[in-house]
Amino acid sequence: MSDNFSTKHEFAEELDKHDVLSKFRDEFIFPEGKDGSCIYFNGNSLGLQPKSLKSYINIELEKWAKFGGEAHFKSSHPWVSYNEYVTDSFCKLTGAKSIEVVAMNTLTANLHFLLVSFYTPTKSRYKILTGFNPFPSDIYALKSQVRFHGYNPADAIIELEAVDEIVSFDEIKHKIERYGDQIALILIGGVNYYTGQVYDMAEITKLGHEKGCKVGFDLAHAVGNVELNLHDWNVDFAVWCNYKYINSGPGNIGGAFVHEKYMMDLDLHRFAGWWGHNKEKRFLMEPDFDPIPGAEGWQVSNPSILGLAALRSSLEIFDQADFILLLNKSRKMWDYMKYLINELLNDKVKILTPANQHGCQLSLVFPNKGREIYNSLTNKGVYCDWREPNVIRIAPVPLYNSFMDCYNFVNIIKQLINE
Ligand SMILES: *Cc1c(COP(=O)(O)O)cnc(C)c1O
Repeated sequence: MSDNFSTKHEFAEELDKHDVLSKFRDEFIFPEGKDGSCIYFNGNSLGLQPKSLKSYINIELEKWAKFGGEAHFKSSHPWVSYNEYVTDSFCKLTGAKSIEVVAMNTLTANLHFLLVSFYTPTKSRYKILTGFNPFPSDIYALKSQVRFHGYNPADAIIELEAVDEIVSFDEIKHKIERYGDQIALILIGGVNYYTGQVYDMAEITKLGHEKGCKVGFDLAHAVGNVELNLHDWNVDFAVWCNYKYINSGPGNIGGAFVHEKYMMDLDLHRFAGWWGHNKEKRFLMEPDFDPIPGAEGWQVSNPSILGLAALRSSLEIFDQADFILLLNKSRKMWDYMKYLINELLNDKVKILTPANQHGCQLSLVFPNKGREIYNSLTNKGVYCDWREPNVIRIAPVPLYNSFMDCYNFVNIIKQLINE
């Protein structure tokens, strides 16, 4: 594949010309950057604002102004059912059935709520297997849940080990073999936030289930980025946020998946709230909780309509773009980026992300001058992010990044290294 690439400027132009998704770039608002030029590679952290987002929110503001509380039951998109309007798009992005997904709360909150149901430790089976170097919020949540149940995190939580920050499949297999009988739950980020490594979620689920463990994934860096088939993989539950690759706005409403097999499982513990109650009877204000079958039964509060409106605008773009085409472009951009880095920066920069297990993200290791280079990039209107001690993370995303962005990025770095 890389044999067909070239380092020439015209080659990047040519790739963009033949990119069937290039028109989507115009659906997003780019930050001002520097002197009108901006390379936005921060989509793994905060996706760009869709141009249509304001009008989606405005419609709801106008409904509120015109109908007041009656808007819960009026117009083409009544608020009382508003979470349902994103279900189809969620299904496509996660490989789920409609009964299995719901937009609610935020990511870490959803993790806690689902741990209540899926982390039910016993004296002999109380451990949690988690990823290597997990995102801090996940590890705080896991530790606090372990303590809440009266166990000791130092003993109960097992982290996967890595070689050069990458976890091998043998290591995952080994840990599940060795500790499986004591593991209550496997909870791993489907894509590691730091390295960009994509785990084999199907295999992990299978191995975990063979040992009687529950298996859940944090999909913060996976949803909208890599192919997911949560239903077919038989994953027990998953949670994600919608402000990274999904572009729905800072801190916006999260998502959750609960496998169909738990649809009517009333034995699972759950922390209930009125929005998870039988929709027909929600407003009868009865004292006994009667959960909606499926993921919606885990809702607690009525959701933010403004947040959901923003989410609708961003998911609409995914619906139009065809996820298979997005994945193809993503892989091509990744390969092109890798090629340019190898050709133009040779041994000055190392790509940490494994070439056969990645989504959009590349984590670049700078043995020298990393911090200075990062600062200069910021001054030049290049958006990426810095992780101590020496990593710059970038995410060329297929919806709004171009091959020319990749070309410019690598050439700017080459210039900075040679300065
Ligand atoms: C982004 C991210 C979070 C953020 O959690 P919030 O509850 O949305 O603030 C948590 N975990 C992972 C793995 C993330 O990548």
